[in-house]
Amino acid sequence: MKKIFITRKIPDAGIMALRQAGHEVSVIQKDGVLTKEELITALQQDTYDAVLCLLTDTIDGEVFDAVPTAKIFANYAVGFDNIVLADAQSRGVTITNTPGVLAQSVAEFTLSLMCASLKRIPEADRFTRAGKYTGWSPELLLGTEFYGKTLGILGTGRIGSLVAAMAVHGFGMRVLYYDVARNESLEQDTGAVYVATPDELYPLADVVSVHVPLLPSTRHLIGTPQFQAMKKTAHLINTSRGAVLDEQALLVALQNGDIAGAALDVYEHEPHITAGLEKLENVILAPHIASATHEARDAMSKLAAENILTFFEGETPPNKIQ
Ligand code: NAD
Repeated sequence: MKKIFITRKIPDAGIMALRQAGHEVSVIQKDGVLTKEELITALQQDTYDAVLCLLTDTIDGEVFDAVPTAKIFANYAVGFDNIVLADAQSRGVTITNTPGVLAQSVAEFTLSLMCASLKRIPEADRFTRAGKYTGWSPELLLGTEFYGKTLGILGTGRIGSLVAAMAVHGFGMRVLYYDVARNESLEQDTGAVYVATPDELYPLADVVSVHVPLLPSTRHLIGTPQFQAMKKTAHLINTSRGAVLDEQALLVALQNGDIAGAALDVYEHEPHITAGLEKLENVILAPHIASATHEARDAMSKLAAENILTFFEGETPPNKIQ
């Protein structure tokens, strides 16, 4: 019997799988984001063998040292920029994530944000609720059609390539993409066209959608020069990680009309949102819910548990990062 600590209540599926395998599972009582001090204090309460953690937990050397018996940290997310991998490596701690199982949900949400932004749906809802609707009008809240428009995708991994397929096959859009690796099967499936640098994509795209992981090479990938290179009619969608964008530069670009609109699920300094964005009509602000479906969150819970169980069996977990 092993002891597993879970840093926040997650859907039951994974917790049940761990308990059914005969292990003791402790879920923290607090339902909220843990401070690092709270996390360290909780981990020091017992000799846990594994930790199932969230993207809101900052996991570094001090955290690993608080629970030296735990040789696996299973992140309940596909992104793992919340974990200092070098600190894990130097302590021989295995790190896993939950890729793939949330790609459908995140891709659907990305397309939903694109619809909401180009058709101005949240703005229209606010307008109607405010009692401003006085009858049909030929030029009321004009939006943009998707058909024949160009979607520029940064990062065509699991999520970005699904977004491309949905946009091409569902909406009749064209896709341009940039990735560090060329995706020939995506090109065959969707006719997506590869550009050799991201800068080639900005002037041509009607919608830019970001699906790269947050890495030193992708931090502030899009800032003032990139916004100024985009079409004034362009919309930017970000469901990857907030710091891939320079959020202050985005605010200025939206205020100046450098781009027409933006829809964000993630923020540079979550949960803080750059002041001023909330005042703009042409930005949609979602609270990091792109993977928040029953299907995806259950599957993430099961996959995180599977990674831990496989590790306990002495085998390589299916989603080992290092
Ligand atoms: P993935 O690893 O399958 O795809 C990422 C792609 O980005 C890869 O094709 C990779 O080659 C490419 N890439 C890496 N560095 C790059 C660079 N410098 N320039 C261009 N391309 C680069 O990951 P995924 O499952 O598609 O997820 C993508 C990201 O989405 C995750 O890393 C995560 O941060 C984010 N995400 C957010 C949510 C959410 O709730 N909003 C949910 C899931 C994932």
